[in-house]
Amino acid sequence: MNTLVIGGAGYIGSHCVRQLELAGHTPVVLDNLVFGHRKAVAPHIKFYDGNLGDAALLKEIFEKEKIDLVMHFAAYAYVGESVTDPLKYYDNNFAKVVTLLQAMKDSGVSKFVFSSTCATYGVPEKLPITEDLSQSPINPYGQTKLDVETMLKDCARAHGLSFAAFRYFNAAGAAEDGTIGEAHDPETHLIPLVIDAATGRRGPITIFGTDYPTPDGTCLRDYVHVDDLSRAHIAVFEKLDTPGTALFYNLGTGTPQSVNEVISAVEEVTGLTVPKVIGERRAGDPPALYADSTKAREELGWEIKYTDIRGIVETAWKWHKNHPEGYNS
Ligand code: UDP
Repeated sequence: MNTLVIGGAGYIGSHCVRQLELAGHTPVVLDNLVFGHRKAVAPHIKFYDGNLGDAALLKEIFEKEKIDLVMHFAAYAYVGESVTDPLKYYDNNFAKVVTLLQAMKDSGVSKFVFSSTCATYGVPEKLPITEDLSQSPINPYGQTKLDVETMLKDCARAHGLSFAAFRYFNAAGAAEDGTIGEAHDPETHLIPLVIDAATGRRGPITIFGTDYPTPDGTCLRDYVHVDDLSRAHIAVFEKLDTPGTALFYNLGTGTPQSVNEVISAVEEVTGLTVPKVIGERRAGDPPALYADSTKAREELGWEIKYTDIRGIVETAWKWHKNHPEGYNS
């Protein structure tokens, strides 16, 4: 399948590109390199430096590369910033996707894979989270993702777009072969921050709250390996042959880990001590979020290779050890 991966130089996108190649598909990357890294994409892969909202460029790529399917990862994803600068998020994460879907329609590209998020559920009404729970995002980031999901459903009904939207839990880890990994700037995610605290690259990790109604008082999250996530995106391809298909899947392991447990896993894997301080709760953090991914497992035959947090941290550690400055190393 000739697959355009928008945001293919970013964290999850670059891992998906690698998995696409391993599965025998032909990925083509479109990325404006605002957050992506050119070095995250192997040199032999066709790379377009450009914007998701550039209709003329999209048309050119669809035709020249004979694109069959589009994967979209190029969203802004800083929850706090989405609260202070919502228009930036509605513009990039929603308005530009309108342009993209219009360009796909105009060029007859009718298959789409969308990276959505568990943030669309807001504070979930029950746990683990199944796909049928009500979706009430508590920040503009989650709202823009939900708005795209709704738009996709409408397009499927109106003109036969076939799509799958994957609601990720906490993507984590790095490529199995150590070539690519997580490198955000600024970094806000727990595992890379804890590793940096362990190595002394940054100061102590701040634990955002120890008074949650959870077994050890810290938040519970569902960390899922980025290669496992990527493989689900490819497993869905054959389901998209029927025009108008609309699919939604949660992607998580279903086993929650507390912040303290993640810190212990990093200490175990690295053999280092993690300096830590206890801080205030971070605004907008639900106490617990974890997935029921039965649907993806049953319908897509999705197999989770990394069922244990230590396995995920081992891959992250391998990457960070060799790339302490990320792609600038
Ligand atoms: N967290 C923390 N200290 C940090 C960063 C994150 O205690 O410096 C906690 C955060 O409150 C959440 C969990 O770690 O409970 C995972 O946060 P992350 O930002 O990695 O992902 P999120 O769940 O927000 O998507």
